[in-house]
Amino acid sequence: MKLCMIGTGYVGLVSGVCFSDLGNDVICVDKDLNKIENLKNGIIPIYEPGLEELLIKNYKNNRLRFSTNLKDSISKSDIIFICVGTPTKKNGNNADLSQVYNVAKEISKSIKRFKIIITKSTVPVTTGDEIEKIISKKVSKKLFSVVSNPEFLREGDAIRDFTYPDRVVIGTHNKKSNKILKNLYSPLISKGAKYVNTSRRAAELIKYASNAFLATKITFINELANLCEKINVNIEDISIGMGLDNRIGSRFLRAGPAYGGSCFPKDTKAITATANKFKTNLTVIKSVIKSNENRSSLMLKKVFEILKNKIKNKNICFLGVTFKANTDDMRDSSSLTMIPALIKKGAKINYFDPTGEKLDFKKFNNVTFSNNIKDAIKKSDLIIIHTEWNDFKNINFKKDVKNKKFSIFDMRNIYSADKMKDNKIKYFSIGN
Ligand code: NAD
Repeated sequence: MKLCMIGTGYVGLVSGVCFSDLGNDVICVDKDLNKIENLKNGIIPIYEPGLEELLIKNYKNNRLRFSTNLKDSISKSDIIFICVGTPTKKNGNNADLSQVYNVAKEISKSIKRFKIIITKSTVPVTTGDEIEKIISKKVSKKLFSVVSNPEFLREGDAIRDFTYPDRVVIGTHNKKSNKILKNLYSPLISKGAKYVNTSRRAAELIKYASNAFLATKITFINELANLCEKINVNIEDISIGMGLDNRIGSRFLRAGPAYGGSCFPKDTKAITATANKFKTNLTVIKSVIKSNENRSSLMLKKVFEILKNKIKNKNICFLGVTFKANTDDMRDSSSLTMIPALIKKGAKINYFDPTGEKLDFKKFNNVTFSNNIKDAIKKSDLIIIHTEWNDFKNINFKKDVKNKKFSIFDMRNIYSADKMKDNKIKYFSIGN
């Protein structure tokens, strides 16, 4: 099939590359000329394991193209995926849909034969209705069908998640579109993905409900970790004991810092805004948002306790600054709250991240980037393990930290507290 992905970010690029690998002709479009030029030269704008090889393979096979020409790309394609960003609006919790609606207007100028227009971007309930209205101002409804097909991939595991999804959700009651899309996804369905056909509005809501539920699970275990710290119980035992219950499941039940990333914070807010619009109140999700917003303050409080409130001139090292391991995505990472707060108190921050230096910290005088772990940790008074990259799991702290009075705050519980005690290292973790 001939596909066009509009928006070549984490979702558009990964799904475009994976669809081409399934044998489709794919054009990935972006308004960012630089990004497209780089992609044509095999330079990938994001860190995503396995993406580069797959992209180059399919680009060489001519199944994958990159373009900034939206009109031309739309006219050459049968199925158009909208994959642009839907961030939170500046004021309030609503999703900013301007990128989506701008694309819808552009699409309406270029439809001459039947097209399926898909929202892969995460969009609030009734956005599909609005897109349909925008396009039908210029195009007969017989020539297009607007479908919701939310994406559930996770950064860092995106290719695997795209190729082996638990489910493919298709929100449409249009029989022709449903048949075409079932066919498009048949290679994934034959590998075990469940195909779920719902109304368009239900598909839109399934995405938000899923993300809000996962954010709730994380927040739930994070709050229980707070309790564990007071009663001398290890949160890891609680996670294992709970997670083995099939009704609960062990995933997203690991205590840690505040959840971040480009999805959970904005999607939990947007779903509460949607509920407000329709005069209902999602009180559970609202309290999850509040608890998570408070989590970075709790983490900082613990840092202050570890350093006995003497923060000025202390060398604090962050291992990992992205919102989680295996991604370069800094959006809403808890390090963006914690690092500025520590600098304000006079700390000197040194960090290492396997995905390199971050623009977000360049504006701070007291934040430096080290390009390897040994350099990052050697002068530290406190080492904060902020993300759970494999690179951080076997560090010889005793040998590599030159300051003998250092402490470790392991926000991901990747080390054994007992082994650290045996090695006489001052070690603090979460919920222990
Ligand atoms: P992103 O910011 O990485 O990429 C969006 C891209 O769209 C950018 O490259 C931007 O230049 C481009 N763009 C914006 N307007 C355009 C236009 N008019 N024409 C062409 N290109 C345009 O965003 P993302 O992380 O890929 O997320 C996209 C959507 O998918 C969001 O709604 C998000 O919530 C959802 N989603 C994201 C993830 C994830 O893990 N990142 C997972 C599932 C769903």
